[in-house]
Amino acid sequence: MDSHHEKTPKVMIVDDQLGVRMLLEETFKSEDCCVLTAQDGLKALELLEKEQPAAIFIDYKMPTMNGLEVAKKIKEKGYKCKIVLMTAYGEIANLNHAEVNDYLIKPFDIQKARDILHSIL
Ligand SMILES: [Mg+2]
Repeated sequence: MDSHHEKTPKVMIVDDQLGVRMLLEETFKSEDCCVLTAQDGLKALELLEKEQPAAIFIDYKMPTMNGLEVAKKIKEKGYKCKIVLMTAYGEIANLNHAEVNDYLIKPFDIQKARDILHSIL
């Protein structure tokens, strides 16, 4: 981000569950972010072509492409955005993937999501 100007950070939420997308969208909008949403990895990668979000929150468990695969694709394509993987405890073997900047463990409370948002922006 340009540190010389006050810009509205753009954040993308990728989750196959509408309820999660809506909850995080509302939360991040109230933190003065511009929010984009996608229901799967393919939609997310499409949107990334047009938009340049500063951060992306990606659900791990989704049909077609899991969140870690989406994160790897994003990095392969050279996008610089920060990546947060949303995963249930124990769903993936380790929380130490090079592509991922932080983890939001499901089920999460809203304050934890806000804290991570602010720590990565
Ligand atoms: Mg899911």
